[in-house]
Amino acid sequence: MTVRVRYAPSPTGEPHVGNIRTALFNWLFARREGGRFIVRIEDTDQTRLVEGSVEKILDGLRWLGLDWDEGPEAGGEYGPYFQSERLPYYHQAVEDLLRSDDAYLCFCSPERLEQVRAEQAARKEPPRYDRHCRDLTDDERREREAQSLIPVVRFKTPLSGQTRFNDLIRGEIVFENAVLDDFVILKSDGFPVYHLASVVDDHVMEITHVMRADEWLPSTPRHVLLYAALDIEPPVFAHMPMIVGPDRAKLSKRHGAVSIGEYSRQGFLQEAMFNFLGLLGWSLDDHTEIISKQQFVENFSLERIGVTAAIFDMEKLTWMNGVYIRQLSAEDLTDRMLPFLDRDLPPSIDRPLDISYVMQITPLIQERLKRLDEAAELTDFFFAGDELPYDLSLLLGKRFAENSAGALAALHAAYVILAEASIWKSETLESFLRPLADKLELKTGDFFGLLRVAVTGRTAAPPLFQTMAALGRDRTLARLDIAAQRLDDSVAAPR
Ligand code: GLU
Repeated sequence: MTVRVRYAPSPTGEPHVGNIRTALFNWLFARREGGRFIVRIEDTDQTRLVEGSVEKILDGLRWLGLDWDEGPEAGGEYGPYFQSERLPYYHQAVEDLLRSDDAYLCFCSPERLEQVRAEQAARKEPPRYDRHCRDLTDDERREREAQSLIPVVRFKTPLSGQTRFNDLIRGEIVFENAVLDDFVILKSDGFPVYHLASVVDDHVMEITHVMRADEWLPSTPRHVLLYAALDIEPPVFAHMPMIVGPDRAKLSKRHGAVSIGEYSRQGFLQEAMFNFLGLLGWSLDDHTEIISKQQFVENFSLERIGVTAAIFDMEKLTWMNGVYIRQLSAEDLTDRMLPFLDRDLPPSIDRPLDISYVMQITPLIQERLKRLDEAAELTDFFFAGDELPYDLSLLLGKRFAENSAGALAALHAAYVILAEASIWKSETLESFLRPLADKLELKTGDFFGLLRVAVTGRTAAPPLFQTMAALGRDRTLARLDIAAQRLDDSVAAPR
């Protein structure tokens, strides 16, 4: 038997991380088992469709490298893969269910249903259909049809007994039929509801394993009843553990949980996201955190999916992203950083950026970078004009606060010696500047601190000599000169 699994998103907006975790687990299972991963778009609820969502869903999958064997764009023998194009299948199933007396037409108006709900609420009963149309006589039905009332079709849920099924992750699940109501299967607009469409398609598309988030667990008894009524074999069910925040509350924006596209815009690497999502409910062992895509594929098993809620921890994701960033080659990191620099550096900086210049800068921030969207902030002084907007007090710091003349002399000396340098490499620059500190009788920390602000405009920046090397001779000298001039002007200016 070939494993066939599906990811069945509803196109109601940008896919959320939890939703993409479902896709990832299905994909991993398919790849591990040499099976097929199918994408099916569940667009039968016409009122909830959001334009552009399908593209965003597919972009999310592409970003994580979750290629699909059948589905939108890919096609396949079991298509179409949009439920809105599969209505004949559902209509056929509805006819079968009506014929076998497992379903019935319901003519109740929305007003009547509302009134029933209000009465139930007043009696503190759970809201549910009161089965008013379940036992209409033929005459009663014809009478309503004659009034051109457009019915919905409801499933005739058994009034007693139990529905049970085995869940690969949760074990045996039992529901009392008495708590399930006569749910709608076909709406008055001719579109099926999720339960019916999902059951019919999982059967017709020969899905072997239905793996989805456990919020769908309460729907499963309905599906099991539908399978039985349609006389078809249900697939294997596996409901994946819920995802919660570190405070164990339902996952929300507050926990940093956003749509999958947002993580890519925030500068998370797809490798890190893949790794992070793959551990939301699954584990390789009890300690390994950094797991490559290939290791996931080789080791993924449903047995190691946990039952307890998975914790979504932004701090962990950010840490993981840093680990993956540090593993990249400078070329690769530069390629990935460029679009972020392009997006985030101030507009005053000329585009396109000089790639070979960026290549010099990349290794200087690689250790510190946790997200690609931090790159612009960490490096903007490399691209800025030489008139850096720092305050003179920053330049002087504590050491030179009362000694601008000393700072000025130190800047001059550095300028003169660097202007002589015939090789512009960080080791060479260091070999000039360290002895100079001695000669000036300055602590290296004070001297280098002064130079750092002069060439970067900040007190915290990547290592000084490497920074100067990357900036190049002209920029470095120009910045030292400008710093000296500013000091000079302030000394000359009357207080
Ligand atoms: N369309 C449902 C969703 O949006 C699919 C649930 C299922 O996998 O059966 O999640």
